[in-house]
Amino acid sequence: MRTIIFLLIILTSIQAQTFRLNRPAKDNVETNGSYLFGEPRYQDPQNAHRGIDILMRWDTVKSASAGMVHFVGYNPNDTIGGYEPDGAGNYITIKSQWQGRWIYIYYMHLQKPLVNVNDLILTGQPIAISGNTGRSTGPHLHFEIRLDYPQSTSRRTKNPELWCAISGMGAIYGRVPGAANSTRVDIFPDPKPRPPYTTFSYALTYNFNDPYIGSDETYNENYAIGDVKPGTYTIRSLSGAYLRTVTVGAGQVVNADASVGVYPDIELPSDFVLSQNYPNPFNNTTVISYKLPEEAFVQLKVFDILGKEITTIVEEQKSAGEHHQFFDAYNLSSGVYIYQLNATTNTGKTFIKNNRMTLIK
Ligand SMILES: [Zn+2]
Repeated sequence: MRTIIFLLIILTSIQAQTFRLNRPAKDNVETNGSYLFGEPRYQDPQNAHRGIDILMRWDTVKSASAGMVHFVGYNPNDTIGGYEPDGAGNYITIKSQWQGRWIYIYYMHLQKPLVNVNDLILTGQPIAISGNTGRSTGPHLHFEIRLDYPQSTSRRTKNPELWCAISGMGAIYGRVPGAANSTRVDIFPDPKPRPPYTTFSYALTYNFNDPYIGSDETYNENYAIGDVKPGTYTIRSLSGAYLRTVTVGAGQVVNADASVGVYPDIELPSDFVLSQNYPNPFNNTTVISYKLPEEAFVQLKVFDILGKEITTIVEEQKSAGEHHQFFDAYNLSSGVYIYQLNATTNTGKTFIKNNRMTLIK
């Protein structure tokens, strides 16, 4: 059995992939985390956002790949595959190769292209000044990747978060089975590298109502989280029915579902444990972990510092092993709170423990 676990861990580490392209912006420019790839489009929810928005203002766009300039310019009648006329503003398409296949990389809303059609381009070469042309609500670079064809509704548009990242960051992907389009997928702790990421980060499963939106052929994901700081994260969706723990390193693209096979082989805890919540202090959301040596009826409650009960987070039969419970304190005000685990096993053992946690808003 130990050998099998070892092999699974090896396989898991082999399954970490690396990024395929350079990021077209400086590292201190982040991607808009509130308008993700695959998110329903503003005022057009049947369609989805087919790229990512990098929040560069009037700044130099550097080519993410080596290739040839396929298109440069502005065409008010051009819908470039499903967009409203004029939607992209000034844009450039670079045709590149990836593993022997064509990829078409779109750079949209440009202030000024710096290259011409058929120019050969090197990775990192300045190709444009970013801007705010077309249907854009502020200066940014819309960055989009289409595999095989420049225009196709057959799910050839791929998530750029899995193709490139800020230096030193990784990415996580997975598939929430049976999830409806745009199902929320939370990650703890906040994976983003620096301010102004002041809001909690999360992903949404892709809106596959849009026939352009595709999963990666290697990853087969329905959600992805890009620009993730190296570390270990808990990912949660469908009220906890989908729960993963994943470790990501710098430059790695990691499958959150790959470690699932290891779980059943983990030894059961020998005793009850109620761990310190993480993160702590926390801003609205945190995770409380506990271990049960055997199956038990579990109550997990939150009290204020005066002992007044605030809420019950868990009240049900739980299996032996480790459990991670998400807690959202959105409705509570700043302060110290107490969370209490009260577990009673089928054989009559009981365990009660209190821990403190600090909410800061
Ligand atoms: Zn965009």
